[in-house]
Amino acid sequence: MEPTSNLAADQVLVKQYLDAVEQSAPLDEHAEMEYRNKIKGLLRENNAVLVAHYYTDGVLQDLAEETGGFVGDSLEMARFGSACEADTLVVAGVRFMGETAKILCPEKTVLMPTLDATCSLDIACPIEEFSEFCDQHPDHTVVVYANTSAAVKARADWVVTSSIGLEVVEHLADQGKKILWAPDQHLGAYIQEKSGAQMLLWDAACIVHEEFRFRGLLDMRKLYPDAAILAHPESPAQVLELADFVGSTTQMIKAAQRLDNDLFIVATDKGIFHRMRQVAPEKSFIAAPTVGSGATCRSCAHCPWMAMNTLARLYETLANPTEEVQVDRQLGEQAMVPLQRMLDFASQAQLSVKGKA
Ligand code: SF4
Repeated sequence: MEPTSNLAADQVLVKQYLDAVEQSAPLDEHAEMEYRNKIKGLLRENNAVLVAHYYTDGVLQDLAEETGGFVGDSLEMARFGSACEADTLVVAGVRFMGETAKILCPEKTVLMPTLDATCSLDIACPIEEFSEFCDQHPDHTVVVYANTSAAVKARADWVVTSSIGLEVVEHLADQGKKILWAPDQHLGAYIQEKSGAQMLLWDAACIVHEEFRFRGLLDMRKLYPDAAILAHPESPAQVLELADFVGSTTQMIKAAQRLDNDLFIVATDKGIFHRMRQVAPEKSFIAAPTVGSGATCRSCAHCPWMAMNTLARLYETLANPTEEVQVDRQLGEQAMVPLQRMLDFASQAQLSVKGKA
């Protein structure tokens, strides 16, 4: 049976959210410095730490590191948030990351620069339709990607991130389990192909990764024959077939450091270049070609919701904490079960996860 998600309706919904995204004007050097200093002071005063995703602006990533916070992928952000002792976590990323932090640390205050920063995968997996889909397949183990609402996580048996999804599905397949996977169809198909698991896939996609194009990438590879192609598994299958390395954001960063190539074509959000240039300053990175530019390109390799995390908004949320993440306590407890399962699995599998990166 096909997933109950309606792709056309989802795309309309995603467009509505995208239309509401407000772009901020860039700051001059003086204003940026002022914000940075004020934010540092407020983080100290509130015993708060800044946790930023690799796709956010490099200024926020630097600030997180300078102030004792953390920069990472969503699994690492979740681990850091649950282990750190601060009273307040400020999550620079998208809403599901803030919700995950709140689920893992219900006693902490979790702030975000804006609660409006969402994700096309989250939007395209509403709990009512998803729950119906699960009910239709009671013999399947429900594995959901972290890019989902707290309610969808609460309905799942497992929550996974891209850095550990394959290992979890292989582990379940070894036990003879059939998998119901949601919401990213490309990551699901990639895991299905690699693991050989029996999987039913929801059909949502990330608006950033689904824009990478096979033909354009093929042309680019001809232009730069010595470059290595790094791709995130949320990209379409044809793009992944061309890649020299497929992995999560952290795994891609480590591959950029480890591989001998001087030039890399990168199929994921451009925000990752900041960290890649830090860990491999002698190497060059170019974005994989997307569907078009300007009017025909919805993301152009940069997530519009990640881009909503600005210094100004970060300052505002610390000075006047209106953007506080709330998760219903009971729902949070239910969602905690599959999340904790992932964290426990990740701890046990740490060596093999690291070995892949
Ligand atoms: S990059 Fe894609 S998966 Fe990540 S938050 Fe943006 S829309 Fe969601």
